[in-house]
Amino acid sequence: MSKDVYELLDRIGNLLRAEVRQLGSSYGLHPVHIEILSYLSRCNQFSDTPAALKEFLGITKGTLSQSITLLETKGMLVKQKDVQDKRVSHLSLTESGRDLIEQLTPPDRYLGPLSKLEQTSPDSVTLLKQMLAEMQIQNETLTFGVCHTCRHHQVVSETKFYCRLTELELDRKFGELICREHENTR
Ligand code: SF4
Repeated sequence: MSKDVYELLDRIGNLLRAEVRQLGSSYGLHPVHIEILSYLSRCNQFSDTPAALKEFLGITKGTLSQSITLLETKGMLVKQKDVQDKRVSHLSLTESGRDLIEQLTPPDRYLGPLSKLEQTSPDSVTLLKQMLAEMQIQNETLTFGVCHTCRHHQVVSETKFYCRLTELELDRKFGELICREHENTR
């Protein structure tokens, strides 16, 4: 049975990656460039550094550096020094980078089947999230999970939450972003 699940997820992943690869190539982008744009469209302010990107994507420093330069040249992202620590840079999408990633992911061609699964079986999304969390625990990697599922996330009001790790009060809307420091509730 687990072999069936594995093969299904593998085939779905291959189809999605192939489509994104093809769409990206029409903009002169490789899959890694799309992954960088996608990550930056979803991460919070503790996770928008080249070091976090390298950990998330598992790529070499050289590939990352070349990719960032290319995306900067294409006007899709900007790099800015941290105001307190000049050794650290933060990356953010430009409007055209954000527009492009919204257009490419998820690919239009597969919006129908993806939405159908979500609408007809909302539990499937929860189950997939649980499976991902369990696999990350097995793999002992950083989870890069969505903030509101983190054990440090504490809701304080309708508009704010408190991050017990960074000891900062942040807007609830940031709770939908992924974070390098995320820790699953065990
Ligand atoms: S609550 Fe967790 S995921 Fe959210 S900002 Fe803090 S450490 Fe990151």
